[in-house]
Amino acid sequence: METPMWHPKLPIESSCRCLGARDSIVSVGRIDGFLVFILAMALPFCPPSLADITSVSKEQPRVQTEPQDKRIQANTKTPTKLRDFSKNNDRDSKRNLSSKRLPKEVTVLPIFFVPQGELEPSQEQISSLMRHLEWTRTRYLELMHNKDSFAIADAKQKIYLSKHPLAFYRELPENAAPQFVSELLADLKYNRYTCPYILLFVVMNPHDGFPGGGGRPLNGGFNTGGGVVILSSSGLDSSRNFQSTLQHELGHSFGLVHVDCYEYDMTKCNSIMSYNPMHHTDGFTPSRTPGVFLPEDLRGLASNTRAFPKFRYDPKRDVPRGYSLKGIFGLGPMTIPGQEEYEPSR
Ligand SMILES: [Zn+2]
Repeated sequence: METPMWHPKLPIESSCRCLGARDSIVSVGRIDGFLVFILAMALPFCPPSLADITSVSKEQPRVQTEPQDKRIQANTKTPTKLRDFSKNNDRDSKRNLSSKRLPKEVTVLPIFFVPQGELEPSQEQISSLMRHLEWTRTRYLELMHNKDSFAIADAKQKIYLSKHPLAFYRELPENAAPQFVSELLADLKYNRYTCPYILLFVVMNPHDGFPGGGGRPLNGGFNTGGGVVILSSSGLDSSRNFQSTLQHELGHSFGLVHVDCYEYDMTKCNSIMSYNPMHHTDGFTPSRTPGVFLPEDLRGLASNTRAFPKFRYDPKRDVPRGYSLKGIFGLGPMTIPGQEEYEPSR
């Protein structure tokens, strides 16, 4: 049952620093017994001016060091769960285009998005992205008590050749994320409801840092289907903290908001969903003080059962003694060109 209302304690302007101009608190609803405050209508992009984002500096060397964190090394042998997105036949496609049925499970699909006139990814870039993604998957597994992590959609990433040049996308709102999503949904023959993927875009752009990092669920809230992350190939190539950025943006795509929604300091909080520079990775070298998940983050991830079916939120384990749990906040649904506005199933 939906109960629209305003959250009285949260000033809109200061709630989430990386939200766009159309930010607003739109509604409150219930998911799995939790009261959920839906916060934002725009993609929580992380502006390049902020320290932890994929800010690109040509002076920064590309670091290819092995992870030093023994826990990460110990877990790298966990087999990756694979899904084959190529088995979407014509009959399925027609059903997918008209259905409002949400997918049973959601996996992360890496996509190299190649604007017209730009080079396709090199083997080195492909290997680098997949290595980063596997590291993020392992890090989530550690932080979720080795119970679950997200699955990667396919061992072979997708390369999408666009008909539009980079200049076309630069002019679009929200760093063109709605347009990227629109094109991929059409290409994959899914709609905003049936899409079973977190669409993880690396936009091929060797010129600058466009698009800045961002991520969110397609339909807002938690457990409402697919999501999106956008990153640039310049960030992949040159940003030393690409890994910590990927961890953060994927958190948004699963529904997590920034820690300032829970009234924590964005620059000092120990959550991945902050901008704390102490969490920054350096190429493939972990931070000595890596980001973790707040109890609120774990509660949010556990409610996304399509992405994390085996993870259960356990207050006895996940909430330290004396910790004061805050309300549950989510992100609003996207407006996607060519797709109807999201309507929750009743
Ligand atoms: Zn963010």
